[in-house]
Amino acid sequence: MTPQFVKILDVPFINTTRAAFIQTLQNRIEKKEKTFVVTANPEIVMATLDDEDYKRTLEKADFITADGIGIVKAAQLVGEPLPERVSGFDMMMDLLEAANQKQYRVFFLGAADHVLQQTLEKVKSDYPGIQIAGAQNGFFDWNDSVLPQMIKDSKPDLVFVALGFPRQENWIGGHIGQFNQGVFIGIGGSFDVFSGNVKRAPEAWQKLNLEWFYRLVKQPSRWKRMLVLPKFALTVIQKKALNKR
Ligand code: UDP
Repeated sequence: MTPQFVKILDVPFINTTRAAFIQTLQNRIEKKEKTFVVTANPEIVMATLDDEDYKRTLEKADFITADGIGIVKAAQLVGEPLPERVSGFDMMMDLLEAANQKQYRVFFLGAADHVLQQTLEKVKSDYPGIQIAGAQNGFFDWNDSVLPQMIKDSKPDLVFVALGFPRQENWIGGHIGQFNQGVFIGIGGSFDVFSGNVKRAPEAWQKLNLEWFYRLVKQPSRWKRMLVLPKFALTVIQKKALNKR
């Protein structure tokens, strides 16, 4: 039987295709089941090894999806392959499409204000069926209870949280208890890409699984963050060797 989850360094990834997962989320939206989705890459998995609080935050998630080729490769390596990447940006696009058709109420949280405004403009013009439940840029006072209350009152079906790692997981994990409904999903820098402020890798690069390399070339300042990738690979290999003994 295909396992429902594949554990990579103890982080349980949902074993699903993107299309099937989007259907799962839509079903939960229809039933008004509150849901916390983490789109996790190797950086996130590695963070759970060093940071107990962050690990506990991820344990609150209903679903963790494979947001990077590194996770898909690691699953192969441990002998429990995942069918494909289920990335935050791709899911945002699928969910916008679904929201447009079903007239879902969507709350947009995160990014610089001009990026957020451009995102909202594009949503209004390209997805006229969407009901914009509310929006807030990503530079707000975390101790202020106004934002959670505003989100709660807006009765959202879907909340995109684009605050980047680890802020978005910490924010959702810290507030999810206050909400009654909504699919909350962390999507990193997706508003920057959606609004055209940051370019995604050309499709050919994506198909070759070189999106990470494209990002490195475009934003060389990220190189330090990428050092986590070989460390991640080594840790997965070491753990596999230990388990074999
Ligand atoms: N961001 C934000 N609030 C913050 C810091 C960052 O909304 O306090 C936004 C940032 O503008 C960008 C997104 O979070 O749109 C992703 O940021 P980053 O590239 O640092 O995150 P990652 O690549 O880890 O997802």
